[in-house]
Amino acid sequence: MAKAIDPVCKMEVDTTKAKFKSDYKGKTYYFCSENCKKKFDSSPSAYVK
Ligand SMILES: [Zn+2]
Repeated sequence: MAKAIDPVCKMEVDTTKAKFKSDYKGKTYYFCSENCKKKFDSSPSAYVK
């Protein structure tokens, strides 16, 4: 099972089941919810270091 960390809330997300994801600067980020994805999409630089 592949896991990723939701950059918004730091929760673990199962990437094989993730419905919410965004590509940013060539990398894919996964989110636990649409709410987290929206936050990330509105200002990705705030969550990616
Ligand atoms: Zn989240």
